[in-house]
Amino acid sequence: GPILGIESSCDDTAAAVVRDGREVLSSIVRSQIEEHSAFGGVVPEVAGRSHLDHIIAVVDRALDDAGVGLDDLRAIAVTTRPGLIGSLLVGLSAAKGLAFGRGLPIVPVHHIEAHAYAGTMELDEDPYPCVALVVSGGHTALYRMEGHARMECLARTLDDAAGEAFDKVASLLGLPYPGGPSIAALAPEGNPKAIQFPRYRAKPERPSFSFSGLKTAVLYHLRGQNALNPTPAPEDIADRADVAASFQEAAVDALVKPTIQAARDQGVQTILVVGGVARNERLRAKLSEAAEAAGLRAVYPAPTYCTDNAAMIAGLGHHLLEAHGPADLELDASAR
Ligand code: ATP
Ligand code: FE
Repeated sequence: GPILGIESSCDDTAAAVVRDGREVLSSIVRSQIEEHSAFGGVVPEVAGRSHLDHIIAVVDRALDDAGVGLDDLRAIAVTTRPGLIGSLLVGLSAAKGLAFGRGLPIVPVHHIEAHAYAGTMELDEDPYPCVALVVSGGHTALYRMEGHARMECLARTLDDAAGEAFDKVASLLGLPYPGGPSIAALAPEGNPKAIQFPRYRAKPERPSFSFSGLKTAVLYHLRGQNALNPTPAPEDIADRADVAASFQEAAVDALVKPTIQAARDQGVQTILVVGGVARNERLRAKLSEAAEAAGLRAVYPAPTYCTDNAAMIAGLGHHLLEAHGPADLELDASAR
């Protein structure tokens, strides 16, 4: 039978039913964006409470849409780390209750390993060994992958995640949360060459990412290059679209270079680009172009499987169950 996946690590309550690790029978994502937007970011207490209010309905809808009952399931896969602990515990408790009640095996899934797995779900063949760029709201890192969930970190951000930088710059520009889609929507109206924001360059022998310098450069630009000036109100920023376009260009460049270099260094053919920022069309265009020029291929999940979803949890859960069997019902969640 298929696997039910449950995901509640951050601000999306999600459930999905997936057969054999890749055939998605249903995928339900309930976003909490409206509940958090007044605060300009995710409030952990609000997130945990909201997951609690909606998790059962989301699971029910996923089962309904798939046309399966609990007794048809082979197992329940659930995100146990990393994430907001109060949010993770809601999904895990729901999974444990259902698994105990129906005598189903339970499979713990690592959220970032699942993001990476999403990049392989639509491929006809497994791409391993490959390099994965995980670029999301909380993570920006490169991995060498030898198989599903077999990841060795090659490089990570020294400060902010790329998605976080999009969110912070959007907030400076007065654009709605989450900032990634807002900046991506405004950027085509601006000139990406209008402002030369700095591109962080790590030493080639120690690859890494950094986005805090770029964020500060945007802030100083808005203050007229004088740190002592106040930050202007969004409606007083005359070149908002140029700032959005130039920032996006700099952020994309900072992701593309180390990724291509890592794939070359590792001697692999394929680059998986996953996580919420992998939805960004400018990133897809520039990375694919650079990959092609280097004789490599870049692979992306469908946009809905870049951001948080439970299909990637159920999908990876299938392989983890085959490889390691079920977990003990006493398993725990962990923020890290
Ligand atoms: P993590 O997976 O690291 O725990 P998360 O689950 O909160 O973090 P995701 O759901 O994978 O993150 O991605 C959300 C991030 O993706 C947000 O920062 C959002 O701004 C960014 N994002 C979404 N769409 C786009 C886009 N089109 N361009 C750039 N960024 C985007
Ligand atoms: Fe995520």
